[in-house]
Amino acid sequence: MRNTQLNWSITICENHFRWQHSKNKVMEDSLCVLPWLHLQYDSNRIFPCCRSNKTFNGPKTNPSSWIEAFNSSEFTQLRKDMLAGKKPRSCNECWAFEKSGIKSLRQKSNEYYRDELKAIKEVKKIECSPEDIKYLTTLTSNSCNLACRTCGPEFSTSWNNDAIELGDLKEPYINRAANIDVTTIPNCDRFYFAGGEPLLEDQHFNFIKELINQGRADQILLSYSTNLSIPPLRLEKFISLWKEFKEVKIYASIDHIDEEKFNYIRHLGNWNLIKENIFRLRSELNNMTFGVQLTLSIFNIYNLPEIIDYFLYKLLIKPKNIYLHPIIHPVHYSPSILDNESKEEIKIEVTSYIKKLYLQEKLNTEIMAIGAMMRTHIKMMLSQDNHSHFENFYRLTMKLDKIRNQSLAHTFPWLYERVRHHRKRNEGEVSL
Ligand code: SF4
Repeated sequence: MRNTQLNWSITICENHFRWQHSKNKVMEDSLCVLPWLHLQYDSNRIFPCCRSNKTFNGPKTNPSSWIEAFNSSEFTQLRKDMLAGKKPRSCNECWAFEKSGIKSLRQKSNEYYRDELKAIKEVKKIECSPEDIKYLTTLTSNSCNLACRTCGPEFSTSWNNDAIELGDLKEPYINRAANIDVTTIPNCDRFYFAGGEPLLEDQHFNFIKELINQGRADQILLSYSTNLSIPPLRLEKFISLWKEFKEVKIYASIDHIDEEKFNYIRHLGNWNLIKENIFRLRSELNNMTFGVQLTLSIFNIYNLPEIIDYFLYKLLIKPKNIYLHPIIHPVHYSPSILDNESKEEIKIEVTSYIKKLYLQEKLNTEIMAIGAMMRTHIKMMLSQDNHSHFENFYRLTMKLDKIRNQSLAHTFPWLYERVRHHRKRNEGEVSL
């Protein structure tokens, strides 16, 4: 009886989330505020956001030419298409997320910039000025101390040697962004930094020092995607600067909570150092929001319940600050490449964890939201059949294990069994 009541409550509450979500979809049509007020750049490209699969050429040094690029014919075409109610192909990730019931960056941004969205709909302007930029994302560089399995040399210099050995790269790849002169974007009060690893960049350190020197820090929100595998002295230097800002949001990329598994996925990372750094940030920074970003991949989907549980009850992260991001590219690391039997097994585990969580937390609304989010990701995995990429996954993983002296069999026995089944089905019993 108790279980039946719980199932009913779960269905009603989760349906409410979905209803709110579908209502938003209808209201917001295809418009996204970001191409009007946000600029993302690295060394020679600009993007409307980090989810867009289209990049636009942007000059390296002259800050005023960033605006030229921001108003290039391609960029203005994106705005025109959106105003005309078209769904640009470059935004496919947002459309795919929304279709699966996952809140997209577009939806989150439109909520955050509600007033600006209204103005865009009314004024319908196509050209923008530097004063319109309210939000800047800088991919500081691809310089990074980690070589995560699901990453590559485009975003991490620590990948260079392995990529060369795999035959994917001819020579080391370095990509460093020039700083935009912040005096040219006077209304920008939100900055987001990703890399590479932004906290290891001296150039980035000087950039935020400059914001303090200009007397703008108390108006500004800084956000970071960081691996947080940062030496304590380095972190201390940043903490002393961050204290000057209105708010600092730190999102640590954490893809597992078991030390061996963590260090396998986030190669060269240090799980214990990260935990120490989280403790330190919490005790020294009063203006900070701390969250985690979990890249959902074939490596961690099976352990999703224990990872979420750890985030909630050991790291004490608020449910609203836990972000799950499924791997779309490269597809050979997506959970959707698993066979149906494995997917069913995962679904049962996750569903039973969600029920336990709801009982434990007496249907707390924030917990319901995270439960709904987990369910949506499982639904997404089930709905996509990418099993044909499994072969590619296993071949690449074996090669990289050899290069890195790691072992899928030792670290991820459940996943290794899936590989054995796959090989057995395709080739008969084989030794791996
Ligand atoms: S719709 Fe999505 S992909 Fe397109 S600009 Fe907005 S956030 Fe970026």
